Amino acid sequence: MKIAFIGLGNMGNPMCRNLLKAGHQIKAFDVVPALIEKIVPFGATHSGSVADCVKGVDIVVTMLPSSPHVRNVYGFPQGIIASADPGALLIDSSTIDPQTSREVAFDAKAKGFAMIDAPVSGGTGGAEAGTLTFMVGGETADFDRAKPILQGMGKNIVHCGGTGNGQVAKICNNMMLAIEMIATSEGMALAAKLGMDPKVFAGIANTSSGRCWSSDTYNPYPGVLENVPASRGYSGGFGADLMLKDLTLVTEAAKAAKQPVVLGAAAQQLYQMHSANGNGGLDFSSIIKLYKKD
Ligand code: NAD
Repeated sequence: MKIAFIGLGNMGNPMCRNLLKAGHQIKAFDVVPALIEKIVPFGATHSGSVADCVKGVDIVVTMLPSSPHVRNVYGFPQGIIASADPGALLIDSSTIDPQTSREVAFDAKAKGFAMIDAPVSGGTGGAEAGTLTFMVGGETADFDRAKPILQGMGKNIVHCGGTGNGQVAKICNNMMLAIEMIATSEGMALAAKLGMDPKVFAGIANTSSGRCWSSDTYNPYPGVLENVPASRGYSGGFGADLMLKDLTLVTEAAKAAKQPVVLGAAAQQLYQMHSANGNGGLDFSSIIKLYKKD
């Protein structure tokens, strides 16, 4: 397939490399020219603009920072919707709010394009390994058309329903993750403060009803598990600022829907405080720093 790939950052670059490995022809564009140059040695063609990038391709994939970037790249006068070839399938893998996702897809469809939202989980490790999970919103025929392309970058490709539902799945899952990480941090720090060995306590929680992914696979207490960010100074992993971004998206979406997210809103505020304390670049399990001194 001829594919345009726009947004070659931490996620986009390895995803693009996996598409090249799968044998696709890639035209690549990013506003940072050095990032295009990084992917050219792997076989991608350098594009000088969004309009140039999307000319003559079957598929367009975007991996952009946030909603305003997606609105701009799709909607501006020389953007994707104005410049892509008729019949191209548009795939947005950025994490953005479901409403923007639906509006951009509506505009694309009005101009005759098929468009799906396909945000990912799995982080930069999953992007490198080609094991991302894609949560896809859109029509079944468009999902079926996109699936072989997404399989070049991921392992689990899940159709979540209509347009925007990929974003719904992504942000609701991450809200649950943030809440459970904070709960685990609170319980672990309290058990230690009350005199228990954190490792022993984690062992009990993990065979009892307190068990969750944050306690048994990604424990935030240093030294409880090997090979997790907590045991290497919270480096690597999924950044606290990226979690804050997703929590802000989910609480805004809840507000618009008038749906209560009491713990989600508290989690958003706790991550905002953590980020304001200068910890946004650390892995999101570093939220335990709110509860214990190093
Ligand atoms: P990033 O900031 O590293 O990459 C985004 C890229 O988009 C940058 O290289 C930037 O220059 C480019 N860009 C911005 N505006 C542009 C424009 N107008 N035209 C072309 N390129 C433009 O971000 P990332 O970590 O790669 O994340 C991308 C998306 O994936 C985000 O929505 C993020 O929330 C989501 N995500 C990230 C992770 C992660 O672990 N990094 C995990 C899951 C989902």
